[in-house]
Amino acid sequence: MSAPGRLPDVTFRLRAKRRIEARHPWVFADDVARAEGAAHGDLVRVRGNAGEVLGVAFWSARSKIALRMIALDDVLPDAAFWAARVDAAFTARGPDVGGWPARRLLFGEGDGVPGLIADLYGSHLVVQILTAGTERIFDQVVARIRERVPLDSVLARNDPSVRALEGLPREVRQLSGTTPDEIVVLEDGVLYAADPWRGQKTGAFLDQRENRVACRAFARGRVLDAFAYHASFALHAAREAAEVVVCDSSPDALSRGRVNAERNGATNLTFVAANAFEDLRERERRGERFDLILLDPPAFAKSRGDVAAARRGYKEINLRALRLLSPGGVLMTSSCSYNLDESAFEEVLRDAAADARRDVHVVARRGQAADHPVRLTFPEGRYLKCFVLREAAEAV
Ligand code: SAH
Repeated sequence: MSAPGRLPDVTFRLRAKRRIEARHPWVFADDVARAEGAAHGDLVRVRGNAGEVLGVAFWSARSKIALRMIALDDVLPDAAFWAARVDAAFTARGPDVGGWPARRLLFGEGDGVPGLIADLYGSHLVVQILTAGTERIFDQVVARIRERVPLDSVLARNDPSVRALEGLPREVRQLSGTTPDEIVVLEDGVLYAADPWRGQKTGAFLDQRENRVACRAFARGRVLDAFAYHASFALHAAREAAEVVVCDSSPDALSRGRVNAERNGATNLTFVAANAFEDLRERERRGERFDLILLDPPAFAKSRGDVAAARRGYKEINLRALRLLSPGGVLMTSSCSYNLDESAFEEVLRDAAADARRDVHVVARRGQAADHPVRLTFPEGRYLKCFVLREAAEAV
């Protein structure tokens, strides 16, 4: 690593300076004035127009996000620097990290390690290295994690499409040890198997962990879990409810859901391989009713251009779900589209309630689990929204 004096300098326009001073970690390529000598993935020193040092960042010559700020002072991000970031992430998560069944240890910008995700499944670490800059410092980060917790294996799930924006290959690679095909996780009394090699994200949706546990408080009678993946919400609900209908379009996810149900000795789940849009419509036509409905679709708004269509999609499923609620029933509905913020999602839900002609109370506004920390000055980090709505048995 070069000395601080030898980091390449990148200079930015005023607009970007304000953004950096507002403690937002991204600067877009349009705001770059000069980037001489900086190569893709380099650590760079960031300067304002007058030459003043604004901080240190990862430089991307390819992505629209040209700069990911690492520090707002003139430091050298060396091994000790990254070790301190890892330590801070451990501290924020409390003393019991080593005993975790499955949790997120590093959440990119939220933990001051831009472009890096690290999930701990027992003694197995599954990572996603999303930028060229992060590739260079990754070994230093993992070295520190190893000093803090025993690791039997490290798997890189470097297959997300954002890697292509950075000119990086999409691949899944064993970095050390042997990561098993499945890792059984105990989640507050419920067992499920994560699939680190082929499952979504790093093998499970850790971001919904707290919401899955919370859904138990609302589960009774008949429950519908739509967009269920491997029945993660359903398994929690099944402990309290008489019957849980589990719907997903992926037969593979459902067959793992069936095995999960057996694992828990749960016999009150029924599995339906279907498009949830059609399934909800069909159940409405048949006049079915549910006491709890869980909606957790994939991100409908993957980019800004998708937002209008995404709103229509969210409205449709929420409208139908509201119509399927029994009096006093609860809808727990999520959106993981980061291009649709909480107020926009709430507006969609309001429209859905109006069209469904239902009065509902907002019981809770929830989000991603606490191990996916959100910086106040980086609202983009809060991508998962989850509303708990209760149908008002008496219309006003
Ligand atoms: N609730 C799950 C995560 C759900 S992820 C958990 O907490 O683990 C979204 C799921 O929606 C995926 O399993 C995907 O297969 C499914 N899916 C995507 N489009 C769908 C559709 N049109 N109908 C039903 N399921 C769909």
